[in-house]
Amino acid sequence: MPPYRGRFAPTPSGPLHFGSLVAALGSYLDARQAGGAWLLRIEDIDPPRCPAGASDTILRQLEAFGLHWDGPVSYQSDYHDAYQAALGRLIDQGLAYPCSCSRKQWRDHPIYPGWCRDGIREPDRPAAWRLRSDLALRPIEWQDRLFGTQRFDPAALGDVVLKRKDGLWAYQLAVVVDDAAQGITEIVRGHDLLDNTPWQRQLQVALGLAEPRYLHLPLILGADGQKLSKQNLAPALPWEGPEVRRLLHRALEALDQAPAPGLIREPVAVQLAEAIPRWSVARLRPEAQRHQP
Ligand code: GLU
Repeated sequence: MPPYRGRFAPTPSGPLHFGSLVAALGSYLDARQAGGAWLLRIEDIDPPRCPAGASDTILRQLEAFGLHWDGPVSYQSDYHDAYQAALGRLIDQGLAYPCSCSRKQWRDHPIYPGWCRDGIREPDRPAAWRLRSDLALRPIEWQDRLFGTQRFDPAALGDVVLKRKDGLWAYQLAVVVDDAAQGITEIVRGHDLLDNTPWQRQLQVALGLAEPRYLHLPLILGADGQKLSKQNLAPALPWEGPEVRRLLHRALEALDQAPAPGLIREPVAVQLAEAIPRWSVARLRPEAQRHQP
């Protein structure tokens, strides 16, 4: 078994909120308990979605909660060449194709029907690049450490976009290339990303990359029953003051780790030192979603 390497990979579309703290903390505790490395990757491949300063705010927030990462922070915007090389490998194998179709054209279909698979329909229009899921070697099962065996129907998956019409790289390709380049062995992230894993598994197989292990954590919902996000105005995590300790304690509770009640007044370093050896995935209830405690 290669040594444990985990990561937290936020998109800097805004500051971290309580839901992102839970995902970061779960991934941190899992890595630290295993004596492994925990890397930080800023997924900033979509500049229009990433306001200036958001990355720096995220770093400050993680530091405030005592979630110190190993090595330099990596930024996806530095790795365009690696994504292009991966796309090139897929094209060479006949596994990627340019597609001029717009969402509007195939709106009556549940997934993109693959119209450009055997030749782009409108070669003069801007093209996206898609994965040919009908030809990609298709694992139809993968294991989640909390949710168990996951099966998916390749026919229902659709040809995922690898590079967008506007030239921006798609998350699915970038995440797979980076996880492999950084030697990530364990992916611990929110349950909202579980549905993305089949495409990532397909891409790992098509590109001949190692398969990391996966642990998807319950997604935290706000009082309105929606996923916490910038759109529904989830409050940003603070980076100083007494709230920091209280929120870390609540995040440990949200991960079912039953921290001692008195720890809520202790500095984050003390809370984490207690939580690391106690971390147990077996304690986690396998719920896709749950309300903020
Ligand atoms: N960048 C993604 C997000 O913030 C997470 C990617 C991942 O963990 O695979 O939602």
